[in-house]
Amino acid sequence: MGIIVEKFGGSSISNTEKLFNCCKHIIKEYDAGNKVVVIVSAQGKLTDRLISEEKEITLHPSPREHDVLLSVGEQISIAKLVMCLENLGYNAISFCGWQIPIITDNKHGDCNIKKIKTDKIIEALNQNKIVVIAGFQGITTNGEITTLGRGGSDTTAVAISASLNAEICYIYTDVDGVYDKDPRMYKNSLKFKELTYDKMLELSNNGAKVLHNKCVEIAKEYKVPLVVKSTFKEVTGTLIN
Ligand code: ASP
Ligand code: MG
Repeated sequence: MGIIVEKFGGSSISNTEKLFNCCKHIIKEYDAGNKVVVIVSAQGKLTDRLISEEKEITLHPSPREHDVLLSVGEQISIAKLVMCLENLGYNAISFCGWQIPIITDNKHGDCNIKKIKTDKIIEALNQNKIVVIAGFQGITTNGEITTLGRGGSDTTAVAISASLNAEICYIYTDVDGVYDKDPRMYKNSLKFKELTYDKMLELSNNGAKVLHNKCVEIAKEYKVPLVVKSTFKEVTGTLIN
């Protein structure tokens, strides 16, 4: 069995009950004999809250401190999710971006991933641990904390998938797939069963917010099969490949 990557967005993990709900998806893959790597965002609207608290102090934060502040949310998520998994009797370990490390350029607030070192992930997987990695975070070669831009955890998930040559990357979210229009706003929107990377890029460029743009570009470049699916409903999602 291969490596499966599962990414959970903020709305999928916004409270403790939801964190335990995500564990069901993780455990299902793990118990089926797969090696499982999980990427998480910050819980709920935490990143928005950090930004508004930042604005109470300054509208022009130094880019470095902005990233130090914004990257905090994902660290909370990884620790809590591992505690949930341990509570259920599973062996899991969390990693921040800098611990992996996920090396990026120094474009604070909108950085690009340059390199991912996979040694620690592989070592933990070989010890049969579920690996939980903070999305959105990176580190420069100078040791500065960076972030990938809003929604960047999707990009972390796909980049990690590419670096591990994962079988598939599941993006769990609060919609059950990719639609031609925002299903939260339009009742007559239609869900795609399957999409090419190029079609997905076109949808993203036209404003579809379901996936981070850079994530689709990386998925295309490294041919990572992606599935966007619901955390809450047992329905088939959208396959992008
Ligand atoms: N927590 C970050 C954000 O809210 C990254 C993400 O959720 O993907 O933008
Ligand atoms: Mg998102």
